[in-house]
Amino acid sequence: MDSVSFPYDAPVSQTLFDRASLVTPGGVNSPVRAFRAVGGTPRFMVSGSGPYLKDADGREYVDLVCSWGPMILGHAHPEVTEAVQRAVARGTSFGTPGEGEVALAEEIVARVLPVEQVRLVSSGTEATMSAIRLARGFTGRAKVIKFAGCYHGHVDALLAAAGSGVATFGLPDTPGVTGAQAGDTIVLPYNDPEAVRAAFRAHPGEIACVITEASPGNMGVVPPLPGFNQGLKDVCAENGALYISDEVMTGFRTSKAGWYGVDGVVPDLMTFGKVMGGGFPAAAFGGRADVMGHLAPAGPVYQAGTLSGNPVATAAGLAQLRLLDDAAYARVDEAATAVRGLVADALAKEGVAHRLQSASTMFSVFFTEGEVRDYEDAKRQEAFRFNAFFHSMLSQGVYLPPSAFESWFVSAAHDAAAVERIAAALPSAARAAAEATA
Ligand SMILES: *Cc1c(COP(=O)(O)O)cnc(C)c1O
Repeated sequence: MDSVSFPYDAPVSQTLFDRASLVTPGGVNSPVRAFRAVGGTPRFMVSGSGPYLKDADGREYVDLVCSWGPMILGHAHPEVTEAVQRAVARGTSFGTPGEGEVALAEEIVARVLPVEQVRLVSSGTEATMSAIRLARGFTGRAKVIKFAGCYHGHVDALLAAAGSGVATFGLPDTPGVTGAQAGDTIVLPYNDPEAVRAAFRAHPGEIACVITEASPGNMGVVPPLPGFNQGLKDVCAENGALYISDEVMTGFRTSKAGWYGVDGVVPDLMTFGKVMGGGFPAAAFGGRADVMGHLAPAGPVYQAGTLSGNPVATAAGLAQLRLLDDAAYARVDEAATAVRGLVADALAKEGVAHRLQSASTMFSVFFTEGEVRDYEDAKRQEAFRFNAFFHSMLSQGVYLPPSAFESWFVSAAHDAAAVERIAAALPSAARAAAEATA
């Protein structure tokens, strides 16, 4: 971290962080927010508008995190805000069914063809946890295949070799997950179809499902090689296992129908979160009606939630999805294309070895040469260069994910003015990356 200088301090954020650290482990409620990988003081944000965030010290940033994906229309979109205000005024939770959750489920089913039925939950973690339970209940089998570097929330059985914060901190596995909880998890290298076939040969009749990020974004952006997802679907079908596509990050972001809308591979079950909640805790899992029919109260596999289908969250999610038409996706695409191009130019100009990878409008930079196809490739990058780059951008008012192992996110609100601010910050950030030492 020696090569990273912190060009200015953030006294109000520092004071808040000190207070937070006394009452909350590490001062944060989700680990990557703490800036441990990049160093320095995490910025406490007080407001957001369109592509901008404002921190507690009064500084404004172009936001390239977008709450890790959800804010695809930008912050405080007037129509989403109005839908939320109307919902709040009607009462915030009833513990009964309501029309909003029906409308949100209908919107998801209408957009994503393989989803015949859907169950709403409150976080992506809950969605993947429930999908795994359902797959095990449906097949009567125990084992689950996941891929190194893929993150599916902090589900006990899925934390082995996980991406996101687990990757950021280089945690091998996490204490508190017992052998019994993780023992049925088989972790394989990503983009390696032969490893998957070998695992099915080694465990005949034992594998309930394969779960994969539809296109991984939690080890940085590492898209599936052509045919990889279809191969997963095929090997599952041949062996009576379910193919679960985790679209919590890609869903309703990479296209109107998420990554399914890009590659067309039909999963048995899918999970959603982030964009579909419009900035509120709403997530979902869904898929084949015959599989979903095994869920309580229709079937024997139990799953429930006090705040599931919450009327405020569903109003926010529905408002956001309804605003996400072709024109909105085109604006997201335009912003992503512009930022990607600017980053590549700036790093090339300074001779910094890098590789930009994208999956539709998700993208990230690896500070390494050559294609990144799996987690081992991703870990070979010179993350210290990212840290210098990050702090230079931050000091110039551009808020990047505070980790070299995360996707960057833009929104439909990232207009020419926002892109121009990013362009202005890039030359010195690229120079900082070039001059950084390990
Ligand atoms: C964010 C994410 C999750 C977890 O969602 P939470 O709402 O944070 O629990 C699961 N899977 C993927 C692919 C994600 O990106």
